[in-house]
This record gives sequence, C-alpha cells and structure tokens, in this order.
Amino acid sequence: MEIYLDANATTPVLPQAQAAALAAMADAFGNPSSVHGSGLKARALLDQVRAAARRALGAPSGQLLFTSGATEGIQTAVLSVLSALRRRRDEAGEPMQLQLLYGATEHKAVPEALKHWNAVLGLNLPIRAIPVGADGRHDLVWLREQAPLAGLVCTMAANNETGVISDLDGIAAALAGSPALWMVDSVQALGKLALNLAERPIDYAPFSGHKLYAPKGIGLLYVREGAPFTPLLAGGGQESALRAGTENMAGIAALGAVLSALEDGVTFQDQAALAAHRQRLAGALRAAFPGVIFNAPAALSLSTTLNFAVPGLSSKLLLDLFDAAGLRVSGGSACSASKATPSYVLQAMGLPAWQAAAAVRLSFGAADGADLIDEACSRIRDCGASLRSSCLSATPQADASPPELLTRFVVDGACCYLVADAATRRCVVIDPLPALTDRLVQWLRCRGFTLAAVLDTHSHGEHVSSSCELRAAVPAFLQEPGAVDALGWPLGAGQILMGDYRLTRLTLPGHTADSTAYLMHEVTHDGPALRLAFVGDTVMPGALGRSDLAQSEPLAYATSLLALEQAVGPHTLLLPGHDDENRFASTLSVERAVHQTTACGAPADSGTKSVKIDLSETELLALMQGTPQPLLVDVRELYEQRLAAGTSLVADVVSEYVALSNLLNALPGWLKLPAEVPILFYCRSGNRSAQAANALRRLGHARAWSLAGGLALWSAAHSKRA
Ligand code: PLP
Repeated sequence: MEIYLDANATTPVLPQAQAAALAAMADAFGNPSSVHGSGLKARALLDQVRAAARRALGAPSGQLLFTSGATEGIQTAVLSVLSALRRRRDEAGEPMQLQLLYGATEHKAVPEALKHWNAVLGLNLPIRAIPVGADGRHDLVWLREQAPLAGLVCTMAANNETGVISDLDGIAAALAGSPALWMVDSVQALGKLALNLAERPIDYAPFSGHKLYAPKGIGLLYVREGAPFTPLLAGGGQESALRAGTENMAGIAALGAVLSALEDGVTFQDQAALAAHRQRLAGALRAAFPGVIFNAPAALSLSTTLNFAVPGLSSKLLLDLFDAAGLRVSGGSACSASKATPSYVLQAMGLPAWQAAAAVRLSFGAADGADLIDEACSRIRDCGASLRSSCLSATPQADASPPELLTRFVVDGACCYLVADAATRRCVVIDPLPALTDRLVQWLRCRGFTLAAVLDTHSHGEHVSSSCELRAAVPAFLQEPGAVDALGWPLGAGQILMGDYRLTRLTLPGHTADSTAYLMHEVTHDGPALRLAFVGDTVMPGALGRSDLAQSEPLAYATSLLALEQAVGPHTLLLPGHDDENRFASTLSVERAVHQTTACGAPADSGTKSVKIDLSETELLALMQGTPQPLLVDVRELYEQRLAAGTSLVADVVSEYVALSNLLNALPGWLKLPAEVPILFYCRSGNRSAQAANALRRLGHARAWSLAGGLALWSAAHSKRA
C-alpha cells in the first residue's frame, strides 16, 4: 500500500467530495446563470458553498469569488492592485515612487505574477523581496522601514516547503499607515489555520481547493470590501461580472463537501492530534537517520509539515529510498537525476548550501489518522535499517551486506570507483571526489575494510583530488601509512594486491603529463587475466579528454593511445574518469566504431538518443511471451531493493538485482549472452534503467530495454509479493 505524504503538493479527493462532484454532474448539472429549474438548482448549490466558505474563512463581507485555483487568484489580485496604481500614476501625471514587495520564500506564482503584470501594464515599479530570518519568518523591521513606500505587499500565510507560519499580526502592524494593499497567499492555511479574514487588514487572499481534499481546478479569491478590483476574465458576467466564465460546478460542489467536512468536526483531525502525528514522524526520522536536521522550527510551522536534511545523503537518494518503502514524499528542492538545485526557500533562510540542496519535505493531510501515521513511522524506521545495512548510515553495522567488487559513484559527471575484495577485506579508491569523502569514510568504518590505496588517474584540473583528505580521515584503515607518489601509488610497489585481484599502472601522458591508467587483473587458474582498466580522462565514452590544459601533453597523446591499445586490446572494458552521458564504460573497439564517421560526416552513434529504448507495459508483457525469455534486472540501489524484497516484477519470473552503482560488475557477463536474449532493466521511474539499457546497447548487446515509467507506472496486477 502506498502512503501519500506530499499533501502540501496536493491531496487526494475526499470520498464525499468525489460524490458531491458526481452528483453535481449528474443531477445539478444546470448552468447557475439559467433561470429555469435546473439553473436554479445549480445556483442554490453555488450560493450554499459560498456561504460555507465565508464561514470557514471568517469573511462575512467582501467578495468571495470562485476561481480555477490560487494561481488565478494571485493574478487577479496583482492585476487589480497594479491597474489601480497605474490609474493613480496616470491621474497624477508623474512617475510613481512606490515599490512592490513580496516575501523571499513566496511560491513562485507570486513574484512571477508581479513581474508579468508590472511589465504588461508598463508600470516598471521596483520589485523587492522581503528578507526572512533563519526561522523563515519575514524581517518585520525591514518591512516597517519599507512599508511607507510600498504599493503592494505579498506575503504567504504558511510556506509550502517548510510549513513556516507567517506572523500575520506582526505584518499587519508593520504595514500600519502604509499606502500598500496586502495580499496573503493563503493556500497552505486552508483548513489548518484560522485566518479570520474580516478581522485582519488583508485585502486579497487566494486559496486552492486541491490542497484540502477538493479536486484541482477550483479555488477561491477573497477581496476585501472596497479593495480595487480588475477582472482577469471578462465575458458573460458571471460572479457579478468579477470573474467571467461558466462556473466549475463539479469543483464547487466538491469544495462544498470539503467545507462541510471542516464544519462537521469529524473528518479532519484537530490541531493537537496533528501535532502528535508530526512528533511521532519526527521521532521516527531521528531514529532512522541519526543526525537528521529539521529545517524549520516546529513551534512556528504547520503541524502537518516536516522539512529535513540528513548529512551525507542527497535528497535524490532519500526520495528513492522512501519511494521503495511506498512512502511518497517530495524533494524540498527541485532536483534532477544528477544534480539537486538548492531550494530558494531554504537559501533565503540562510541555510548552508548542502542543506538547501538535500532537503526533503514530508507533509501529511489534515484527514490522516493515527493508523496511517503509525505505518508511515514503521516504514521510515525500515528505511533507516536498510541504509544501515548498506553502510550509508553513521552507525556501524555488524550485519552489513558484503560489498560488490566494483562500486561506481558519479558527482556532476565525474566518476569515482571503489574496488573491494570481500575475501581479503581490502579495497582501493580510484579518483576520490571531495563530495564523497564522508560517504567513503562511512563505508570503511562500517565494514572495517583495509584501504590499500587511494589513487588518482591524473592531477585533476577541474576539481581538487580529495585523496589526502580521505587518507587523513581514516588512518586506522590505511594499509600502512608508507610514502606514496603524487597520484597515491605506494612508492616502490610494482602492483597493489587485493586477494585474487591486482592493480598495475600504465602511464599515458596526454590529457595531463601525469595521466595514468590502472589495469585490473584477476588471478585465475590459467594465470592473470586482464578484467578492466581505469583510464581516467584518456578515453571517455564518446570522446578523448582535453589536451589543451596547462598540464596537458598533447603531442604525447597519440603514443599513449597506442600504448593503451597494446596493453588492453580492443575489448577490455575501460572505465572513465568522466561520464556525463552515463555510458558507464567503453572499449577501444566501440570507440573506434562510433568515431568512424558516416558519409555525411556525422559520428555513427550520434543518433543513439532517438533509438527506442523504452518498452511499455504491453510491449514488455508481449516480450515475456516470446523466446528466449527476457532477463529482468532491477537496477535500483540495494537499500531500495531491500525494502521491496520479495516482490517480483512479473509473477513467477525471478529478477536479477544489480544496483546501477554496481552495474560494472555485471556488464561483462551480459555482453557474453547470446545476442537474441532480451534484457529488460527496470527501476523506480525509468530513468536509471534507461541508462543501463543504453550503456549495454552501446557496448554491443542490442536487445537491451528499459521499462518505460518504471515501477511507478507498472500495474501491481502483474507483480507478485512472495
Ligand atoms: N501558493 C502556494 C503557497 C502554493 O503552495 C501553491 C501550490 O503549490 C500555489 C500558490 C499555486 O496553487 P495552484 O497551483 O493551485 O494554482
């Protein structure tokens, strides 16, 4: 069962709201502007819902308009104020000295609307962000100083990312005597805070139904009696000609059902219960992730929101982990697969960059009961246990799972490799990256392996090697603190041994004068066999490294490539120091093939991106009927797979589990499979599995596929829990 903990993004629709919407479509489908019976029925419903909204918001007077949502309400309020300011400017016949202010942590709809209408109306007034403190609240001293020169002030009632509740009375006091009109984006407050609109000097307050269990597409805008108003939509005169367009009766009916639920005192939990829920969730997070930091003070935040970060864990990792446990939370910041963009809200609060980039938001709904919260807490604890067994938690773990031989880490396209021999418990780190130091230290402490060497493939131009930092952090795990050369190679050593594996080096000047490859051999019955080579930036999949750096030796490049070819031959896997395109590995023969230009001069692999790699659910099920049967491979990380243990993608078909970070271990075996064997990779969303499929195809196995949309879109009917 999925547990939805992203209520600040949107909520499910209450069953009674669904029923009300259906009834409005089936029975009260009339147009409320019609004067016949059907129209009158619809009009009565509309009036009834508006009256309920007035009660809920404490707004007996002023206008309360039905809109499509908060974004529309915000536009209407901003347009209204700026149109009034423009009229004033035109009447005065001189430039205006006023400014437009908005809270630095406002939802983007507010500053974007200000920019848009300021430009469209040709006002060009200065737009300034009101700073917030470390607690996320507005700087009221600043606001008081600026208030006399403000034409419009926009603040939110509660923040969508952090849940921080604004000090509305403090803001009102700071604005006393100001000519400014005041808009309060009240989206996150609906049903959670008593706004008492009539008792505050708020001029405009937009709301959105889907944040409180109504469907998307219905909202409200409160406009204080006497506040300037300019319709955003002109037309048939609906909503007293303030907002034209036939009303969204299904949405209004559903919103009415939600407002009734607010009044019945049964459907929604009271503040004390919600605060207790949050306390239990925070406790579970502390137990699961020692060192977790909460990004907003609980006493000042909505009791339904927790925004947190865990040192050493990216928000992407945490989201994948939670998702595998069936917990739907969201990144507190916009994140892409490879790089998290820091949250501007947390940045405005002055939080450190890592915290603003690693934030996760957990927000539950006011209707969520104690059972659901209990189950969520239990799954959060499972997430912590799973991380611990993967040595991703600060706590040492006796039963940590044995590591794979090769683990690959990627930070902004730069690759770092960990080679670990489980038999001798010796490991080597190749091309360490500063962002990974804590994680690698944790890995060593948790597993107690000996660090035989920390090697660089060259002196990196674009980032500082963190090898000294890593060595200094784990003296107890170093093989012996003997002298090493500039790239970390133990002085005087011909090879580095790790059980059946051994590393030798091959100097390859070109990208830099000191560029070196590390060749990894496995000792077999027939003698040492070359398994792969770490080649740094000498050969990257699809390119060579730059040779125009101060430390480059361009004239040596060709000789080095020949030396590499002589040492490794055409088919040895080459593991690069950079891999922006997520190709994982290459071979000289693959590189030669893709760089042979076509008759038109385009590289032969320039079109690989457009080749269909995704299989839909139907296509996959069809593939399952054919022969040979496809190999199904789950490429989620071990900590995710563990949480989903016992579930197979397709009932009665056993999947292989190869985490994307350990993909390199399995590539050689897959490349030896008969060409006709289809390999289907899957993951949470289809992103990582597409990387795996693309990599395998590029290396020569053409029948590699990725499940489109991943497990998120896969229908549970096909899966089986053991
Ligand atoms: N304001 C806040 C604080 C919000 O959280 C949101 C939605 O995320 C909006 C405005 C925009 O609401 P809608 O997308 O429903 O128009």
